[in-house]
Amino acid sequence: MAEMISPKDRMKREQVPMPEQNPDERNRNFKEVPLGYTREQAIYEAQRCLQCKNAKCVIGCPAEINIPQFIKKIVEEDFSAAYNEILKTDALPAITGRVCPQEEQCQKHCILEKQGKPISIGRLERFVADWARENNVHGKLPKIEKKEKSIGIVGSGPAGLTCAADLAKLGYEVTIFEALHLLGGVLVYGIPEFRLPKAIVKYEVEEIEKLGVKVIKDYVVGATKSVDVLARDFDALFLANGAGAPRFMNIPGENYNDVYSANEFLTRSNLMKAYAFPEYDTPIKIGKRAATIGAGNVAMDSARTALRLGAEKSYIIYRRSRKEVPARSEEVHHAEEEGIIFNFLTLPIKVLGDKNGNVIGMECKKMKLGETDESGRRRPIPIEGSEFTIEVDIVIDAIGTSANPILARSATGVETNKWGYFIADEKTGATTKEGIFSGGDIVRGSATVISAVGDGKVAARAIDKFLSSGKSLKIK
Ligand code: FAD
Repeated sequence: MAEMISPKDRMKREQVPMPEQNPDERNRNFKEVPLGYTREQAIYEAQRCLQCKNAKCVIGCPAEINIPQFIKKIVEEDFSAAYNEILKTDALPAITGRVCPQEEQCQKHCILEKQGKPISIGRLERFVADWARENNVHGKLPKIEKKEKSIGIVGSGPAGLTCAADLAKLGYEVTIFEALHLLGGVLVYGIPEFRLPKAIVKYEVEEIEKLGVKVIKDYVVGATKSVDVLARDFDALFLANGAGAPRFMNIPGENYNDVYSANEFLTRSNLMKAYAFPEYDTPIKIGKRAATIGAGNVAMDSARTALRLGAEKSYIIYRRSRKEVPARSEEVHHAEEEGIIFNFLTLPIKVLGDKNGNVIGMECKKMKLGETDESGRRRPIPIEGSEFTIEVDIVIDAIGTSANPILARSATGVETNKWGYFIADEKTGATTKEGIFSGGDIVRGSATVISAVGDGKVAARAIDKFLSSGKSLKIK
């Protein structure tokens, strides 16, 4: 067992940095960028935790992990106990440990944040989950008393998977309906291999399936069967279909060949495995110069993917300044290190094409920042006469996504707001139709993995309460 050190010594220690692949090598391969803590590094970092009695970090975790307790188990070198502690509430620890914006969640509330060196909770979570997987240590399955009631879940992203795991642990019969041939939602088709290896998603999904969750793939609810018809077969439904419909800028030339939505571009690379060329021969045009419009996580993933797929220059085009960039700072930092070229205060106004309809460039305008707008950020204002042209071979629109209406159209009585997102109670996930619950991006708009996990947990609890009270969709 590692030595317990005094609170004074804990405060003196610096955060253990994450070992990473060298930027000049990694920008041409799809291997994971952060390499993960070693055993020694994890213990050293865990020893810094002050084990606060009234731990604030827990408040910042929608997955409700008992953070001080799992960290204490790392110090005790009982990694199996640490893993089981996390699994009590988070079924996707290797995933959340990698992609959660911890700096905005648990770590923001860490008492050491005031000194600018909060405990690296996400890195420790990742270490524990990776250790368990690599050492063939599985979660202790709870003794499940089977319940007669059944729940249908639409979508297998983090919201659907979490809700399924929590309900299966309570003994319910759970069936997930997934439109694609693989489970995981954005975790498999959106987030690239170099940030979230697909083998890890597969592993954690399979651990959830072991709880007895039934899965039906290649099944588009709303097309194969309506929500109304599905509701006759289940006691309750959880709609977690995400918000995957692409958005475009609606500027001239956007229908030229080689203008992609980020979703299409990333799906070709990740889900359809263009990144694994020559083993997979999925068509994806890159050319020499790629322009990605937007500056969120999706834009960073697209620009970094284009670079790895062979672009000589990969640009981010963003109409606001560096300060307003919405992507995680770690992702921006990684993108900069890898050589992504940022064009701030730049607005694309036209895509230019040749006579065959192929992209050859973009016309842009320079912007300046004005007063603060309703989003709390300074409004970008075009500078007249500042038009200029940039030569590019492909354009990737990464300006956000929206709700796909297929599911909502087939769900009578389940109301949506003006953007097509389901209206659901924040505390229960209950929609406007009794027995139907919803959560994740299809309620919040594009949000985060951890908020989807949190919504899945909230809905599972509410569904259990609904069914325990003797109610059911079937008898409505
Ligand atoms: P999704 O993950 O979108 O899953 C929905 C699932 O439902 C999909 O599998 C879909 O195929 C399925 N589905 C849809 N319609 C139907 C239907 N009609 N019938 C059956 N199945 C259906 N968040 C972070 O926290 N950190 C990050 O670093 C991060 N990076 C991101 C990078 C990219 C490229 C993208 C696109 C998003 C990123 N996000 C990130 C956001 C995060 O991934 C989402 O907020 C989260 O995945 C939402 O989870 P969800 O379960 O609501 O939906």
